[in-house]
Amino acid sequence: MFDFLLRASMPVIFNAITALLIWAIFSLTAALIYLILVLLYLMSRHAWQLYKLSQWLVKPDLQTIPEANGIWDDAFSRLYKMVKRHQQTKLDLAAELKHIEMATAAMPDGVLILNSVNRIEWCNPLAAEHFGLNPQRDIMQDITYLVRQPEFIEYLHEGNFNDPLVMSPSRHDDLRLSIKLVHYGDNKRLMISRDITQLERIENMRRDFVANVSHELRTPLTVVNGFVENLQDMDDLNHAQISRALFLMAEQTKRMDNLVADLLTLSRLENDHSPISEEVVDIAALMRAIYQDGLVLSADKHPITLEIASQHNLTGNYGELRSAFGNLVSNAIRYTPTGGSILIRWAERGEQPVFSVQDSGIGIAPQHIPRLTERFYRVDRSRSRETGGTGLGLAIVKHIAIRHQGKLEVSSEENKGSTFSIVFPLKRSAH
Ligand code: ADP
Repeated sequence: MFDFLLRASMPVIFNAITALLIWAIFSLTAALIYLILVLLYLMSRHAWQLYKLSQWLVKPDLQTIPEANGIWDDAFSRLYKMVKRHQQTKLDLAAELKHIEMATAAMPDGVLILNSVNRIEWCNPLAAEHFGLNPQRDIMQDITYLVRQPEFIEYLHEGNFNDPLVMSPSRHDDLRLSIKLVHYGDNKRLMISRDITQLERIENMRRDFVANVSHELRTPLTVVNGFVENLQDMDDLNHAQISRALFLMAEQTKRMDNLVADLLTLSRLENDHSPISEEVVDIAALMRAIYQDGLVLSADKHPITLEIASQHNLTGNYGELRSAFGNLVSNAIRYTPTGGSILIRWAERGEQPVFSVQDSGIGIAPQHIPRLTERFYRVDRSRSRETGGTGLGLAIVKHIAIRHQGKLEVSSEENKGSTFSIVFPLKRSAH
């Protein structure tokens, strides 16, 4: 402060001393004229600097800040520093804003800001995608004009956002969204949308699976229970009746046993994400073992042919491969009427190893083929059950194929027969 006053009054003091000297040497009039001229000069200089400052303030730019000396130089250099600081803060804020924008754009949820009268103030790209919005054109539009589902409008107006709303947007009815609103700030609301399509699908699958397993176990249990009750109620049972009841009960318990065994296999395959323990599997020996199993299962009802057209072996897990190949052979036998033929084949397609089972059985209509590997999916439920099927065989085969980076292929024609093949990648071919 003192420094500033000193610098501001220096010209006045200097000129006052000069005026006193003029007075002493010349006259009072000369001194006064001198003082008036000097003061006029000083005032016009300040006025000029003020003018430059006011002009510069119209469009403040660091490059064009006025130059000056004396106390104005001080003021301008402080101003220069202030503007520079201000510009840096602006740059920092812009960078921060960009950062936040990038973070919200990368968020796995849709985020949308609604003002107090339901107009969209901002949304991230995912929210725009969920609700079919245009982030530029639809800003400040009323959301109820753009998202028109009655349940959404009711949810918005009710204002009770404790539980999320689950709905499908009109433009993607296969999409399921969980929508949550949160009050914040000055009567604004943050709307968060999450794609739960996959989650719902998994939840439905889980529910179906539990229902299917319960149903599958319930039928044989009811049968066994029925026989047990009958046996308890009947006083004079003869040996033939007892052995028939035991035979039928054994059949049902075998069915339950098969089902539980397949369920355990499937669960182990699905939960085991570690790499499979591998070895070079002697394919000729494996094919012969499967062929023998097939002969036993068919009990001479079908001519079965074994063809080994490739000398290459396969790197993989013996137990899993035997289970997958055996399942396909067992299906071919079970779905081929007596007299129909079956061909078990090991060959190469291009250079890829292929295992296939071809039958001349009942075949499968095209609409069923994409669903065959779903758990418990059967074309003919009673035929599958009669032949001891659990409805899980092909699901197991598909998992084993995937664990070996292979692919299960099905080609079939109703009443003509089917070919089920597992095509393995070339890298699994071994000598
Ligand atoms: P399942 O225990 O019922 O045989 P799978 O998962 O092995 O269960 O097969 C699913 C369904 O695919 C079967 O129920 C049957 O309808 C059909 N299927 C499988 N293999 C054949 C085949 N070789 N010929 C005709 N249909 C078949």
